[in-house]
Amino acid sequence: MTSNEIKSKDLQHVMQTYGRFDAVIDRGEGATLYSPEGKQYIDFTSGLGVNSLGYGNKKWAEAIYAQAIKLQHISNLYYTEPYVRLAEALTARTGMKNVFFSNSGAEANEGMIKLARKYSYNKYGTGRSDIITLVQSFHGRTVTTLAATGQDSFHPNHFFPLTEGFRHVPANDLAALEVALGDNTCAVMIELVQGEGGVLPLDKDYVLAVEKLCQSKDVLLLIDEVQTGVGRCGSFFAMEQYGVNPDAVSFAKGIAGGLPMGGFLANEKLHAVLQPGDHASTFGGNPVSAAAALEVLNQVTPKLLAEVTEKGDYIRKTTKSWGIPAVGEVRGLGLMLGIPLTGLVPKEIAQQCAQNGLLILTAGADALRMLPPLTITYEELDAGLAILKSILT
Ligand SMILES: *Cc1c(COP(=O)(O)O)cnc(C)c1O
Repeated sequence: MTSNEIKSKDLQHVMQTYGRFDAVIDRGEGATLYSPEGKQYIDFTSGLGVNSLGYGNKKWAEAIYAQAIKLQHISNLYYTEPYVRLAEALTARTGMKNVFFSNSGAEANEGMIKLARKYSYNKYGTGRSDIITLVQSFHGRTVTTLAATGQDSFHPNHFFPLTEGFRHVPANDLAALEVALGDNTCAVMIELVQGEGGVLPLDKDYVLAVEKLCQSKDVLLLIDEVQTGVGRCGSFFAMEQYGVNPDAVSFAKGIAGGLPMGGFLANEKLHAVLQPGDHASTFGGNPVSAAAALEVLNQVTPKLLAEVTEKGDYIRKTTKSWGIPAVGEVRGLGLMLGIPLTGLVPKEIAQQCAQNGLLILTAGADALRMLPPLTITYEELDAGLAILKSILT
């Protein structure tokens, strides 16, 4: 099909829930994508932080084929090897005790919320079920994770009533959290770098103070690393750079390099809270996704992580060297970066970039967002940055 045929069929047959860019993507190689007609795009999105190894990664594709031809799926009522190998690798890399696998970020967070509520119920009984999250946070699109999300734009009346028991406090404001945290609070859930909210890293001192406050009240600290995790920020999880030890941490997006997978890891204190029958997911930890994730873990080496940090610094330096007044200082960690713009509409800039062969995202109201494949080359970075510069000048 041609790009135009695909676009018109989409309009005809697909619920129009996405404000799509005017780009049809057919295939990719490295961090470069092509339309059916061969139009080239540099990818600064990774399909929203998912394709950590870029496109056409042979070992990753071979791992998927080898598993698919052997066993593509079996109920979680049975044991499988990719599942336990991935669980072992993730606990070894994080020091967490055990894991639950889901398919997506929202589903991972939902599970983590259930875990927190059950922990509190077991220990303190009913009435201690509130979860505090931060203003500008994003935790997903289900009715519960929308309630957790601290942005009014995600709370239009037509979806009410959302799940009860969520309160939002401003980020980096310990006093506000101290006031909000009461006898009915069972957990605090945070992103370390707020992604959808604008690529806003939390202050390290604040995060460590939140950890201490939570510990002092036996309130669980839940970290949502759905976007920041699996190498995106230059360490396996961003929590390593913050030196924070949550009670549970969720992941998804980049974990399987492009196949659906999510999950959450729990520490010693929480590892046995969820019992048979408490939680489940038909596709969670699917063997093919698990095999793909194992290959992602193989390739997210300390060397690659160091390169992620270097490439992020390179983007920071390059955009600064342009000296464009509308372009603010780049914020974020590793290859999760936001470029604040003044006097420009990020969505319009991103649309012009797409027309000119660069896929780039937006975040919050004022910023462009970059989440390129962790494996992007400097040639591809230069090519993408040159397009961005030409649009911004
Ligand atoms: C994307 C995202 C989610 C939701 O993930 P889905 O896979 O789309 O459900 C949750 N939390 C954060 C921080 C995210 O970036």
